[in-house]
Amino acid sequence: MKLLSMKHIKKSFGDRTVLKDISLDVAEGEVVAIIGPSGSGKSTLIRLATNLEELQGGEVHYGDLTLYTEKDGYAPTAERQKINRLYGMVFQHFNLFPHLSVLANLTLAPRDVLKVSKEEAVRTAEGLLARMGLADKAHNYPFELSGGQQQRVSIARALAMKPQIIFFDEPTSALDPELTQEVLAVIQELAEENMAMVIVTHEMAFARHVADRVIFMADGLIVEEGPPEEVLDRPKNPRTQAFLNKN
Ligand code: ADP
Ligand code: MG
Repeated sequence: MKLLSMKHIKKSFGDRTVLKDISLDVAEGEVVAIIGPSGSGKSTLIRLATNLEELQGGEVHYGDLTLYTEKDGYAPTAERQKINRLYGMVFQHFNLFPHLSVLANLTLAPRDVLKVSKEEAVRTAEGLLARMGLADKAHNYPFELSGGQQQRVSIARALAMKPQIIFFDEPTSALDPELTQEVLAVIQELAEENMAMVIVTHEMAFARHVADRVIFMADGLIVEEGPPEEVLDRPKNPRTQAFLNKN
């Protein structure tokens, strides 16, 4: 069963076309790494999948729910709300609510959106924080934490919504190398638990290790995709080869 199916996605900003014709499927438990030069459209692709940019062409389905088709446009609000609950998103700059404690960051959406009780939301949040090695940070504010800790909180916040799939947009690009590893280790653990994930990353060793499939994008197109040992170790396309030689 496909969790996500994006077909023939096109996207322009003004007269600048940034995605030309991209198709991406994600199966249950699958980890897809997206690599490629800056400006190739990686963020735009996952922002379209997560309703942060407006779709203009192609179609997007989550399981048997349809988010958008070129012919009929966006699904009605009720269907979109169902879809919104299926995915989580983790950003490069964490995007935690700065005025809320760590615990409140984790309990807000489950209470507001999923309507779980305060007790249950707190119990889930505390369990997730313990798992992230952050049990003692529940009552701290984001600014009191290191970047690596903040990013682990934002992963916990995504998990608190019990998503079927999590999108990561360069989750370690804002972190010092010594903090990068603690975040990658958490994502690695999720992969071992068969969480479906789409991860835009510059960490090639990590992509090789964690991904079932690697997609190389350039200029709004998928240039090459396949298992990591093919795309990363024996790339066929000269553009993939040139990119990997520089990274
Ligand atoms: P990547 O994540 O691969 O670096 P992006 O998806 O961020 O690439 O950007 C692809 C192209 O789209 C870039 O040229 C970028 O400047 C442009 N772009 C992205 N978002 C916007 C926007 N909201 N308005 C105008 N141009 C944008
Ligand atoms: Mg980007």
